[in-house]
Amino acid sequence: MDSRLIGIALLGSTGSIGTQTLDIVRQFPDRIKVVGLSANNSTKLLSSQIDEFKPKLFNCPSLSSEMKNDKLNGSKHCSYEDMVTDKDVDLVVTATVGDIALLPTVLALKSGKNVALANKESIVMAGQLLMDIAKKNNSKLLPVDSEPNAIWQCIRGENQTLSKLFITASGGAMRNMTDQEKQKVTPALALKHPTWTMGPKITIDSATLMNKAFEVIEAKWLFDVEWDQIEVVIHPQSLIHAMVEFEDGSVKAQISPPDMRLPIQYALLYPERMQNPQLGKFDPVKTGSLTFESVDVNQYPCFSLGLDYGRKNGTWPAVLCGADEVAVESFLKGKIKFVDIPVVIKETLVTHNPLFETKLEDYLEAAEWARNKAEEIIN
Ligand code: MG
Repeated sequence: MDSRLIGIALLGSTGSIGTQTLDIVRQFPDRIKVVGLSANNSTKLLSSQIDEFKPKLFNCPSLSSEMKNDKLNGSKHCSYEDMVTDKDVDLVVTATVGDIALLPTVLALKSGKNVALANKESIVMAGQLLMDIAKKNNSKLLPVDSEPNAIWQCIRGENQTLSKLFITASGGAMRNMTDQEKQKVTPALALKHPTWTMGPKITIDSATLMNKAFEVIEAKWLFDVEWDQIEVVIHPQSLIHAMVEFEDGSVKAQISPPDMRLPIQYALLYPERMQNPQLGKFDPVKTGSLTFESVDVNQYPCFSLGLDYGRKNGTWPAVLCGADEVAVESFLKGKIKFVDIPVVIKETLVTHNPLFETKLEDYLEAAEWARNKAEEIIN
């Protein structure tokens, strides 16, 4: 292959980040080659993606065994293990939701592949472990999530100690709502994010600010800073995605309209920046003012829970992820109220017996335990 051509394996190709990743591939077909596509349920969309991108490999656990044996347009069905370690893959994009990305991320890093990390749970659950594996195997974790991606852009070319990281949060769909109003929030309302268009799980996590707690944990591991060096600020315009303060007090910010395709493109084409006519431009005069507020922790109980238990490390963050997954899903199905999400998570956390000398399986088991426990609490 042309050395400028990057071979990618895309896990979660039919979801929000997956389809936007393929938008970037469409823009740069001579730079990015899809080697593997993986999806769980949306078989129709996956098969049209296979027709369009003609990957060498695909993975879809829900397909019938006859269909798996058929070569779909020349593509061969394989396990995700075989896909992420394939010799033609340079970069694995993890665009799935939940802890399903953890094992493939570990396998990819161990075989020396870089991982463009769009999945939060894997690094939240096993941050230290992933960073250690990457270091040992000379592979890299490249953040796709817009805030860590913005930090990565800000520190580019800097050989300086970071003194502080500011992560911005829009405040989500329920910012400025009273407690009474929050009691009545429906899934449809909570799914209306003010600035970003994302999948349902992350949109609800943005409304509770659990997503922001996850991003603090993510940044802690990716950029090797102390917990107290990371500050979250509400920035309703979602134009500045993160800011980095250096030791001399100088602060760099990354600014761009809220569109996930920019951080995806940055991670895929790194270190190159290339023109993409699809991406909007920042207009300072049209924008007028950029505003910032501190986070009112009383308004966002999930945020405090996320930070408190993220810091504790061990299997705690895995339990946080597992409980959050079930709580959010139950809210979306109308089984619990929006305000019950932190209650379910907290009740799950307080019954957990953590492990601290941990290996990969412990994180997965803790998340599974938390899902079952949260289900039990809800029922
Ligand atoms: Mg984000």
